[in-house]
Amino acid sequence: MKIAILPGDGIGPEIIDQAVSVLKALGEPFEMEFAPVGGAGYEASGHPLPEATLKLAQQADAILFGSVGDWKYDTLERTLRPEQAILGLRKNLNLFANLRPAILYPELAGASTLKPEVVSGLDILIIRELTGDIYFGQPRGMRICPDGPFKGQREGFDTMRYAEGEIRRIAHVAFQAAQKRDKRLTSVDKANVLETFQFWKDIVTDVHGDYPDVVLDHMYVDNAAMQLVRAPKKFDVLVTGNMFGDILSDAAAMLTGSIGMLPSASLDANNKGLYEPSHGSAPDIAGKGIANPLATILSAAMMLRYSLGKAEQADRIENAVKKVLAQGLRTPDIYETGTTKVGTVEMGAAVVRALA
Ligand code: NAD
Repeated sequence: MKIAILPGDGIGPEIIDQAVSVLKALGEPFEMEFAPVGGAGYEASGHPLPEATLKLAQQADAILFGSVGDWKYDTLERTLRPEQAILGLRKNLNLFANLRPAILYPELAGASTLKPEVVSGLDILIIRELTGDIYFGQPRGMRICPDGPFKGQREGFDTMRYAEGEIRRIAHVAFQAAQKRDKRLTSVDKANVLETFQFWKDIVTDVHGDYPDVVLDHMYVDNAAMQLVRAPKKFDVLVTGNMFGDILSDAAAMLTGSIGMLPSASLDANNKGLYEPSHGSAPDIAGKGIANPLATILSAAMMLRYSLGKAEQADRIENAVKKVLAQGLRTPDIYETGTTKVGTVEMGAAVVRALA
C-alpha cells in the first residue's frame, strides 16, 4: 500500500515526522513517498500543488497531509498561495466528504475552555461538504457594483450554489455514519434566508427516506453554533455545507481543549482519502518543537481505518494516544498544572513506546 506523505509548511513537517514514526512502528509494509506541497511546493517548483505532487496523490492509496500556509506568502497572487494546494487536492481527487470527529478524552476535560460537565464525554462527528458551496461557486471576483446604493463602486462577490447530486452524496455519507453511531443526524442550514440551503434541507429530507432508522432534525447554522457551545453533547452527527462546516468544525475543535487534538478525513466516493489535522500550519510556533502531533497521529489512525482497511492498527494507535494522555504527558497547548510538559518529538516517541 502506497501512502503519499505531504508535510507542507510551518509545523507540518514537525508533526508529520511523528506520525510517520508511529506508522513505521506498526511494522506494516507501507510504501511512503514524500512530496512538497503548499509554500514548500511553491519554493520547489513555483506552484503550491506541483504536478508531481498531484500525480503522487492520485496514484497513492491514501494521502497523509501536514498543513500549508505561511504569512510570508500573503502577498502572492491568490492562485499561488499555499492554501490553494489543499483546495486543488480536494477538487482534483473529488474529496467531497470531510469527517471531523470531536472527542474529548476524559484526561483533557480541564483543558477545554468550557465547564467539564458541559464537555466531559463529548463524542460528536461533524461532516462537512468539501468541494462545493461558496468556496468554489462561479462566478466570483471583483467588479464595479452594477446597482443599488453603492452602484459604481468596486465590489467583491462570490456565488453560493449546490447541485442536487452534491447534496445527495454527502447526505448518504452522513446517514451511513449516523447508522454506525447513535443514529441521530442534525442537518445544519440557513434555509430561512438562503435558497441554496432551502434546497439542501429538501434534499436531505428526501434522502432520509432511505434511512428510516436514523432520527433526522434540521437546525439553522446560527442556532447550531450556539448549541455547540451550550450543550454540545446533545449532538451525534452533524452534516452541513462547506462554509458552515468550516466554521462549526473549528468551534467544535475548541470544545475538545485544543485544535492540536483533532484529526480529519476527506474522502471520495470510494473511501480513498486525504488525512490531515484540523488545524493549520501554526506559523507562530513553527520550529519551536512544541506543536502537538496528536491530531496528525490520530489522522494516520483514521487513514488506516477508512482507506487502508487496517482497523486493528487504527485501534492500536488510538489506544496508544489514550495511554500517553493517561500517563500525564502534555504538549503546551493542552498542559495543565500537575501534568508533564513535553515537546513534539517527545510526544511522538511516547506514542511509539505506548504502541508496544
Ligand atoms: P492555525 O490552526 O495554524 O493556528 C491557530 C492557533 O492554534 C495558533 O495559535 C497555533 O499556534 C495553534 N495551533 C495550531 N495547531 C497546533 C498544534 N498542533 N499544536 C499546538 N498549537 C496549535 O490557524 P491560523 O493561524 O488561522 O492559520 C495559520 C496558517 O495555516 C494560515 O496560512 C492558514 O491559511 C493555514 N491553514 C491551513 C490549513 C490546512 O493546511 N488545511 C487549515 C487552516 C489554516
